Amino acid sequence: MSEQVKVTFHGGLGDIGRNCATVETEDAMLVLDCGVLFPSEERPGVDFVLPDLSYIFERAEKVVGCITTHGHEDHIGALPHLLREVPTAIHGSPFTLGLARRRVKEAKLEHRAEWRPLADGEQRKIGSFSCEFIPVTHSVPGGLISAIGTPQGIILHSSDFKLDRNPVDDRHTDLARISTLASSPGIRLLLADSTNADMAGSTASESEIGPAIAEVLATNQGRRIVVACFASHLHRVQQVVDAAVRDNRMVATLGMSMQRNVRLGRDLGIIHIPEESFVSIEESDYLAPEELCVLSTGSQAEPRSSLATAAAGDNRWIKLGEDDTVVLSAHPIPGNEAAVANMINRLMELGAKVVHAGALHTSGHGKRDELAELHAAASPEWFVPVHGELRHMLAHADLAEVRGMNPERVILARDGDQVVLSDKGLHLNSKVTPGDYLLVNGKIVDIDRGMLRERRKLRDEGVIAVSVLLRSGEADLSAVDVFVESRGWLDEPERSRCEEQVEEAVLDIVVRFLSNFSESASASELDEGDMEELDYQIRRAAGKRVRAITGRRPVVIPIVHRMPRD
Ligand SMILES: [Zn+2]
Ligand SMILES: [Zn+2]
Repeated sequence: MSEQVKVTFHGGLGDIGRNCATVETEDAMLVLDCGVLFPSEERPGVDFVLPDLSYIFERAEKVVGCITTHGHEDHIGALPHLLREVPTAIHGSPFTLGLARRRVKEAKLEHRAEWRPLADGEQRKIGSFSCEFIPVTHSVPGGLISAIGTPQGIILHSSDFKLDRNPVDDRHTDLARISTLASSPGIRLLLADSTNADMAGSTASESEIGPAIAEVLATNQGRRIVVACFASHLHRVQQVVDAAVRDNRMVATLGMSMQRNVRLGRDLGIIHIPEESFVSIEESDYLAPEELCVLSTGSQAEPRSSLATAAAGDNRWIKLGEDDTVVLSAHPIPGNEAAVANMINRLMELGAKVVHAGALHTSGHGKRDELAELHAAASPEWFVPVHGELRHMLAHADLAEVRGMNPERVILARDGDQVVLSDKGLHLNSKVTPGDYLLVNGKIVDIDRGMLRERRKLRDEGVIAVSVLLRSGEADLSAVDVFVESRGWLDEPERSRCEEQVEEAVLDIVVRFLSNFSESASASELDEGDMEELDYQIRRAAGKRVRAITGRRPVVIPIVHRMPRD
């Protein structure tokens, strides 16, 4: 009998983001990715969301290393959170490690990690796991499929992938190697990317974008071109550069992450920009519009990004106007559509032409035909869909079953679940860890215990503070002052008028409440129960009046002060 192997999912099974899993034997644990989730409208004011790593922290002494499959934030962004508790070795391709290292350095945790670059096809023992890393195509260079050798056979993790037949850097997905492993020794368990599992067909090759960009340049002669794309998407960057150089333009980068990633890519030999075609953005004002192509961040209209600030007219380096054609070479990520549309309007108000046709972008994730090909090559004994919302994972499970896989061998797991591989097969242990969402608010990391509900209410309805001062002078409670102050509720002059009306309603209820007590009672004699009751009545009276005037339900905060007897 062989030792059993546990695979625990800490994030990424239910959302696209915060991907993190562990593969574990009795005495060793391997971490597989450690990423963040970017918050949607549902989480206002949250910087980002981390996976709950408490399960790993409780077993820190077993951790033998962390594999980073590629350099996207949803796979590397939470490394500081891991390293703060568990110093360990990080394995990944040179470009992945370059991006990860920057993130870790910013968190001042570089001394907690060892960096172990991986070559394509490399075999490496990590702790007791014999691993092999297979090149795969995606929307960032250096993606790796991990074949993790365990006492229960090979666990194959697809990483984020598409099967690009014509990759820009000619680095192909090595499906043949997967087929070889599948025939001997066989793939025990497949964990595969579900992002586009509900989409038929195949994703277009990245190399189809180059000609579309060249076409934009050809039809925009005499104008400055600004192309916004993801800063880690260096194959896109390369194609923009190639088109620009052919059009006799100089190339400049705009935005910190674009500048740094292009430098890293050039240093690693991943992208090639002829020295004579490269100009810094600071020096680029001397060029005529038709002589320049700018590569910019901000394709998602992120508030502080270069393109968003340029659209608002306050970018330090570039003023956009009638001489500019702005190319958005990325689809808005779900949740960013409105912000992107808004940015396009602002760019157009400045007089710029904006191009954002579908032919200027392609996904980094394979659709159903590509997923089917991976399943065919791997022909796994067991399958768990990963990297997706529930709808994507269900579509992926369906695909495996349509291909003829026994439905009992397709296991649907969620964040916090664990699957255990033993001689008997695979079984699911639900919720071995809570899989909580850890919210990063500035410097504070916390689990949501109702705070977001409160914040959404503040966002949607505003807040009213009702402050009541009970003066107990000689011997009576009747000297009462009420002040109402609101935020995010109404604009002037309605605001003052409504505040006054709320003040009246509250004064009325407080006086009526106090009339239950004897004339000679003093405010300091109201006990805790009385104060709670008073709070409740103030909130109710204020809320009722506010609703009557405006039909809205802002948050009401009563604050009662008691002035002690002299
Ligand atoms: Zn991903
Ligand atoms: Zn990715």
